[in-house]
Amino acid sequence: METGASPAQTQAVIAEVERCGFTPHPIIGAHLSVVAVVGKHPGQLKEHFESFDGVAKVQLIDQPYKLVAKAQREPSSFDCGGALVGGPTITVAAGPCAVENEEQILACAEVVKRSGATMLRGGAFKPRSSPYSFQGMGVEGLQLLAEARRRTGLAIVSEVMDPRNVEVCAEYCDMLQIGARNMQNFALLFEVGKCDRPVFLKRGLAATIDEFLNAAEYIASQGNDKIVLCERGIRTFETATRNTLDINAVPVLKRLTHLPVAIDPSHAVGDRDLVPPITWAAVAAGADMLMLEIHPNPSKAVSDGAQSLDFPAFEKLMAGLDQVPRYAY
Ligand code: PEP
Ligand code: MN
Repeated sequence: METGASPAQTQAVIAEVERCGFTPHPIIGAHLSVVAVVGKHPGQLKEHFESFDGVAKVQLIDQPYKLVAKAQREPSSFDCGGALVGGPTITVAAGPCAVENEEQILACAEVVKRSGATMLRGGAFKPRSSPYSFQGMGVEGLQLLAEARRRTGLAIVSEVMDPRNVEVCAEYCDMLQIGARNMQNFALLFEVGKCDRPVFLKRGLAATIDEFLNAAEYIASQGNDKIVLCERGIRTFETATRNTLDINAVPVLKRLTHLPVAIDPSHAVGDRDLVPPITWAAVAAGADMLMLEIHPNPSKAVSDGAQSLDFPAFEKLMAGLDQVPRYAY
């Protein structure tokens, strides 16, 4: 729509989209409103809609992912349990790999809050490489996260692994994480797409950017376009680090999508000493959000201890972050 198009003009376009048999996805921005439409284009529709009052232009999107494509849209930002994602400042989610007990998660929440970060992470359902490893505390873990939110006001993000658990995770969490191993679990993507919680989608271990964006489109196609795309390192020939951070993903995604982009330095490097410089690189590249693993006693952590920062290292990292210039898109 043109800047300054009236709500009635936008409404008329929405009504006509419906009359033509399509489902409209209106995106009402502060400066720019877009009526996105997905479906087979029978021709002539472009000219038809261009003749409507208030329509600036009708743009056909060639990419297979339509709703998450940048097209002419402003970058997305949204509230997530009081934490702003995609805003002018970087959003930080930090916490343990797994919720282990009340004392551990409350101690993490306290230091996360004190550091100025706005979100607490913690896995309650854990995707472990071995079926014999600790699988997470489940709903009890979610309840501990909710208690941490009650005490600190931090927003909660936690992973959901099974479509049957989306409802209970949405009940306790402000944001639902889809782990790297589930990036193409299409049944799960559809299910989180139907709920109203923002989704933190992690890039698959061997997924291309194109596959990553199509996975996000699965979620958006169900009506939920509050999605953060998280680069967390991919598998390459390199074995010196757990994964290889594809820092290119930040500017590439910024070019292709309006969705906020996150970096998870912890899983990318797998080694706590390497986390601070890679965190700085993520900020400099213009990431919208960071996800960091911390633990009160990393050597005793049940999972991912080697990459978890202890509290002093985390507080030092957070205190230094505003020294890093952030690339603006
Ligand atoms: C996690 O965040 O703890 C996790 C399992 O991440 P990923 O899915 O990126 O491996
Ligand atoms: Mn982890």
